[in-house]
Amino acid sequence: MKSLAVVNFAPEKGSVELREILRPEIGEEDVLLEVANVGVCGSDLHQWTADHSWPVNYPVVLGHEFGGHIVEIGRRVEKWKEGDRVVSETAAVINPSNPLSRQGLYNLDPSRKGFGYGVNGAMTRFVKVPARCLHTVPNNLPFEQACLTEPCSVAYNAVVVNSSIRPGDRVLVIGPGTIGILCAAMARLCGANVAILGLEGDKGRLEIAKKYGCEVIIGDASNWAYEQDGLGVDCVIDAAGVSATLKIALALVRPNGQITKVGWGPQPLNFSLDSLVQKNVRLQGSFSHNWPIWEKVLSLLSSGSLDVKPIIGGVWAISDWHQAFHEMHTGNVVKSVLKPF
Ligand SMILES: [Zn+2]
Repeated sequence: MKSLAVVNFAPEKGSVELREILRPEIGEEDVLLEVANVGVCGSDLHQWTADHSWPVNYPVVLGHEFGGHIVEIGRRVEKWKEGDRVVSETAAVINPSNPLSRQGLYNLDPSRKGFGYGVNGAMTRFVKVPARCLHTVPNNLPFEQACLTEPCSVAYNAVVVNSSIRPGDRVLVIGPGTIGILCAAMARLCGANVAILGLEGDKGRLEIAKKYGCEVIIGDASNWAYEQDGLGVDCVIDAAGVSATLKIALALVRPNGQITKVGWGPQPLNFSLDSLVQKNVRLQGSFSHNWPIWEKVLSLLSSGSLDVKPIIGGVWAISDWHQAFHEMHTGNVVKSVLKPF
């Protein structure tokens, strides 16, 4: 039995097309998921436009933000059963005896391979998933929203785990993409005063960011950053897809403040980091997420404390993947969601 899949087949720009693939065979510790919804991620777009900075196992089915029903169970899988509603984490392959994995930080295991670049992802009807990646989706949470547990977990890790934000802090988020807006929402949940910075072309997406109770700034955030006491913001979350925004972050962060970088951009920098030293600033990277973060995020989504509906720009059939990618790439929508069948 064959299904349509969105396949990234080569490293050249634009090397994504619909192909028919066979239903995957599962191993003893896997389940087979029938995908209900899969989100399009900035990293799927980066692979499509070939400006990514991670190794890809071509050809590969794209998609790592997904949920669905279990339709088949491996022989050694215990806790789960057919029909269960689940979402899956992204670390499809890890080395369980790596010291970081043993600490629960398998997201940082150097041998980790994720869905959508290392192994086949979920932009298709069936996907093979190790049972250790699964989380139960609460019944009141539709899959269209549940498939965004992944980007919400990226934001939770960046803002809640890798930054220390207190109620009343001033937090500037750079970049109004999905991760930026979700980071702003998380910082609001932490009790911070939040502004999100974008460019003229980001107006539509910034309008959506307003729904999360943050101020929106186009172009220059200096006024907002220095407004309170002239020293800058407590924390900058850099969620832009270029490295150069670190310069803005360094200029606007207050002495002894922190910068958390969660946006990727392979271009090298060409400016001095001396202000990092002089201001005694902490620069922190944030990558991916792990099991406890997923459980917290599902709880936030289920209780309604975190509402992802405003960022969902539309749901497209898998045959319309190109339009879904394009709408997101041009910034017309914050997040595109696909429905595989
Ligand atoms: Zn993602």
